[in-house]
Amino acid sequence: MSETTDTPVETMEFKSELRQILHLITHSLYSHKEVFLRELISNASDAINKIRFNSINNEDLLEGDKDWKIRLTADKEKNTLTVSDNGVGMSRETIIDQLGTIAKSGTMEFLETLKNAEDASRPDLIGQFGVGFYSAFMVADRVTVISRLAGDPPDQGVRWISAGEGEFTVAVVEKETLGTDVTLHLKDGEKAFLDEWRLRQVVKEFSDFIEYPVVMDVERQEPVEQKEGTEEDKKEEDKAPETRTVVKEETLNSMKALWLRSKSEVEEDEYNAFYKQISNDFNDPAKVIHYTAEGLTEFKVLLFIPAKRPFDLMFGDPKVGPKLYVQRVQIMENCEELLPAYLRFVKGVVDCADLPLNVSREILQQNPILDRIKKNIVKRIFTTLEEMKKDESDKYVEFFKELGMIMKEGLAQDFENKEPLSGLMIYESMNTEAGSYISLDEYVEKMPPDQEEIYYLTGEHRGMLENTPYLEVFKDRSWDVLFMTDPIDEFAMSSLTDYKEKKFQAADKGNVEPDETTKAKAEDNEKTYKSLFETLKSKLSEVQDIRLSTRLKDSASCLVADEGGMGAHMERLMQRMGDGGGGQTSKRILELNAEHPIIQGLQKLHASDQNDARIENMGRLLYEQAVVAEGSKLDDPVGFAKRINDLLVKDLIRI
Ligand code: ADP
Repeated sequence: MSETTDTPVETMEFKSELRQILHLITHSLYSHKEVFLRELISNASDAINKIRFNSINNEDLLEGDKDWKIRLTADKEKNTLTVSDNGVGMSRETIIDQLGTIAKSGTMEFLETLKNAEDASRPDLIGQFGVGFYSAFMVADRVTVISRLAGDPPDQGVRWISAGEGEFTVAVVEKETLGTDVTLHLKDGEKAFLDEWRLRQVVKEFSDFIEYPVVMDVERQEPVEQKEGTEEDKKEEDKAPETRTVVKEETLNSMKALWLRSKSEVEEDEYNAFYKQISNDFNDPAKVIHYTAEGLTEFKVLLFIPAKRPFDLMFGDPKVGPKLYVQRVQIMENCEELLPAYLRFVKGVVDCADLPLNVSREILQQNPILDRIKKNIVKRIFTTLEEMKKDESDKYVEFFKELGMIMKEGLAQDFENKEPLSGLMIYESMNTEAGSYISLDEYVEKMPPDQEEIYYLTGEHRGMLENTPYLEVFKDRSWDVLFMTDPIDEFAMSSLTDYKEKKFQAADKGNVEPDETTKAKAEDNEKTYKSLFETLKSKLSEVQDIRLSTRLKDSASCLVADEGGMGAHMERLMQRMGDGGGGQTSKRILELNAEHPIIQGLQKLHASDQNDARIENMGRLLYEQAVVAEGSKLDDPVGFAKRINDLLVKDLIRI
């Protein structure tokens, strides 16, 4: 490589989000610094995957180099560590985009999380978000990248240099060999990364399963071969064998493709280490799914169900699907055709020899084999989760707390798998203790014969739901009510209508069928309260209707939505998302409890003078109480306080 003298060195600025990320990386990451090597090796391996894939139809790209390798070079004199690959490389444009000016979507949210995260978990987050390259600045005060895009001539190489502050430079340079060299000028305190044993250890720990050899030249002492000599010479040799220093290329990683081995040959430790390497998760997975499918299509599957929510699921564009291999070549880093989006937390590898290797991605994506594999692996994931739910329920609850909300998206998306998917749902309920969950099967099993529907209530948190008036009738009848407190539950429940032929019914919507005794009384009450309700309806424009309640036992009033109407919780969610129809709320039905002394008193008052001003006042208070009880905000809180105060004053005057 030599610099072409007449090409100018251009100085450019990092995009501002990247500058902030770099600032954090250089100034506040002090632990797990060694992960920089994992990131660079993983980029190198991706680059080799890409050139292999691109060259399927264009062998010329390879320039005769098929000796895939990632090389580490430690130069103790210059204090540099170089990671080189013979992968696809980068053009001038790509390097400017990828290493400087394009920040991925979600970068700002990522920055916030990074600032708030504990120091120890930060490098992990960096890898998961995919700013891996920049982690080099944890250990280097200057990084030089020299690269050439496969297909470009050797005089079209590019050199990128940066100290990881505001700027970087690019220049066009000669590069004879394919691929990319990333050279780190190590900071004073980081010279240990020039040490052979340290590098070996880091590669073993973080990059052992990288499928290309990670090699390094090492110096070894070797005995010097003795020529046939005299007796005298031999004696000499016994005393002090002569050695010389030789340089040998050694491979530091084991390159085991675990998914190609049979289950019985793989240790749990190996699965865990492989999972960590492909997921950048520091935790062991909750479950490993490893099998070979035989039949019409033969394929090997090694999938992992994480125990913790991976960071990339929350920000940016989460990647969906396992890696897809065909005849040991990685065809796709994330094959979206193989998993539905709501199972995007499942990581791993699918290897299928029956797929064509030399066709475009687009054509591959339409291949019916992919669909068959998808059906098969989704089923396997469901049975694995189902078994975990049955046999390791504590572990399942922990898993569900982390990832259940993502699976719930499927309830609204995957109608084909509705039954097994809803069978995996667990919820807290009125009859469970806080923090304990029941499944839909358990709920249905416990339903008494006269209960026909599965009742549920949505809301922000358990504490709020536990005390709502909606539960009174269910407490009275000992019918359980599921508590749904994930924001996604509202949306999921608009699609989930039934489970095992039992319909879902929101406890705060529609009517609750009265039992025989209340039914008889209800007819009398209808007559008694008809006139009062008509007066109240004419005064309370806030409500859609007023009716006698079949669900209240202790409270005087509550608000319910129409069967198909929007519930209070959904309305609050929509408002928070800025989609509340300009702050407008839908009107609800005011239910009043005929057994409650306030309602009875109000009825008597109305019977004696239907124009008494207190009727409207108290009617409005009953409505306002119900708004507070459903967890929503009052339109006129000051008016409400005044109405209450007036009553308090009246009560106190009597003392
Ligand atoms: P990620 O690898 O998650 O995309 P990085 O910040 O590590 O994020 O890398 C950014 C991009 O730079 C990569 O997506 C790739 O396009 C490019 N890149 C980095 N290292 C290499 C390399 N060794 N060879 C080719 N391209 C690379």
